[in-house]
Amino acid sequence: MISDKLQKAINEQITAEMWSANLYLSMAFFLQKEGYDGCATWLKKQSQEELEHAYDMAGYLIKRGGVAKVDKVDVVPQSWDGVLEVFENVYEHECQVSKLIENLVKVASEDKDMASQDFLWGYVREQVEEEATAQDIVEKIRKAGKSALIFIDDKLGQRA
Ligand code: MG
Repeated sequence: MISDKLQKAINEQITAEMWSANLYLSMAFFLQKEGYDGCATWLKKQSQEELEHAYDMAGYLIKRGGVAKVDKVDVVPQSWDGVLEVFENVYEHECQVSKLIENLVKVASEDKDMASQDFLWGYVREQVEEEATAQDIVEKIRKAGKSALIFIDDKLGQRA
């Protein structure tokens, strides 16, 4: 059985994952309108992944005898300066998510809840990948001139 404190914290994270999903979807729609279809495809997949995280965390809570909640999700930004600013925001957002996950590990560790710590470490590892991927895209966009952006857009559109 999971503690009330940890259950509350994981439910808050479920809401945060859903907010992330909406953020990336909003970015996808923005860049799609700007003509960056590849970036939009990449961001839609990123958005789906965030929803999967919410499902996964809810599934975990239920398995441990807890209750998973769907709460109110705040509005997300709708416009950016351009491709670079979008992906800089992706990177910054992933760094914030890493902090939230680290805090969950702390709560699970204070509870001496080994199963939850094990579950959450998977997300700590996931965040290492998320930060690195976003940073790599930001660096590629920074190096590319405006005309080379089309190649980056094409590559991001190939995300499986
Ligand atoms: Mg996530």
